[in-house]
Amino acid sequence: MSNECTLSIIKPDATRRNLTGAINKKIEDAGLHIVAQKRLRLTDDQAKKFYDVHKERPFYKDLVKFMTSGPVVVQVLEGKDAVALYRKVMGATNPANAEAGTIRAEFAESIEANSVHGSDSTDNAKREVGFFFSETELVG
Ligand code: ATP
Ligand code: MG
Repeated sequence: MSNECTLSIIKPDATRRNLTGAINKKIEDAGLHIVAQKRLRLTDDQAKKFYDVHKERPFYKDLVKFMTSGPVVVQVLEGKDAVALYRKVMGATNPANAEAGTIRAEFAESIEANSVHGSDSTDNAKREVGFFFSETELVG
C-alpha cells in the first residue's frame, strides 16, 4: 500500500467518440487524481517505441497504426496503489472479458480498440510517465 503514479492513455477510439470526460469521471470516481494530462497525436516513431515490448507480437503493426490513427490523451494518475487500482478500473484487455462497470466493459469497441492503456507495473509506470512528462509537469 503506497502512494504511486501510473500512466494512462485514452486511446483514439475513445477520443473519436468524445469519451474523454466519461473516462475521466470513472478515474476520479475510483479515487485516482489526474495530476498531469495532455492531448496529442502520437507519431509513428513514438507509438513504435512506446509499444516496443510487443514488437514480436502479431498485432504490433496494427496496434501502432491504431494508436496513431487519431488524438490520444496521455495522463498521470496518482493515488494509493494507483498501478493496480487503475488496471482494475480499466478491466480486462478484451472487453468481452471485462468486469461490468469497468471502462473497457462500458466503452471498448474491441480487443485492439479498447479505449485505455494503463501501466502494468510500478517500474513500467516510471518509464512510461518519463516517456511523456517531465517532473515539473506533474502537479499533485
Ligand atoms: P495496455 O498495455 O494498452 O494497457 P493491456 O496491458 O491490457 O493493455 P497488452 O497485452 O499490454 O494489454 O496489449 C497492449 C495493447 O495491444 C492492448 O491494449 C490492445 O490495444 C492491443 N492488443 C492486445 N492483444 C491484442 C490482440 N490479440 N489483438 C489485437 N490487439 C491486441
Ligand atoms: Mg500492457
